[in-house]
Amino acid sequence: MSVDLEQLNIQGVKINYYFVCKRKLWLFTKGITMEQNSDRVMAGKLVHENSYKRKQHKELLIDNLLRLDIVDKDYVREVKISSKMEKADKMQLYYYLYYLKKLGINKKGMINYVKERRQEEIELTPEIETEIEKIILDIVEISKEKTPPKLKKLPYCTKCAYYEFCYIKEEE
Ligand code: SF4
Repeated sequence: MSVDLEQLNIQGVKINYYFVCKRKLWLFTKGITMEQNSDRVMAGKLVHENSYKRKQHKELLIDNLLRLDIVDKDYVREVKISSKMEKADKMQLYYYLYYLKKLGINKKGMINYVKERRQEEIELTPEIETEIEKIILDIVEISKEKTPPKLKKLPYCTKCAYYEFCYIKEEE
């Protein structure tokens, strides 16, 4: 399967939202962004800044799609508060590795879970690459939908930046 990444315009965060909530993904693809108001995102930014206080900060923006925390000789490193959204976080990092590979850059991934004080190394495999390609095509399909996927109550809805948007009717 050949996927034209530049044409498809898939930001890394969309891969994350794909696993967190398809409705959230749809809202984001329609340009409805409220994350900057979210406390959780603010907390994440603070943790991120503090975690790398002593290291030289090397955030990298690639093709306006990938915002990489840290890139060094062997690894793309991501900083996360905890592993609560482990699958989403891992797949986002796999996507970065996949994208870089398409650019001819081969790296491994390292996620630093700050609260748990642990790191996890990840590496692309042909199976993961196939999974990423399926997800990319699925995201393109979701973004073409005229209406958002139905609301599904999730345990983290109250912490989501779109909470008011999704639940406003229920509170009336
Ligand atoms: S509030 Fe819940 S259903 Fe709505 S976008 Fe967020 S996670 Fe999805």
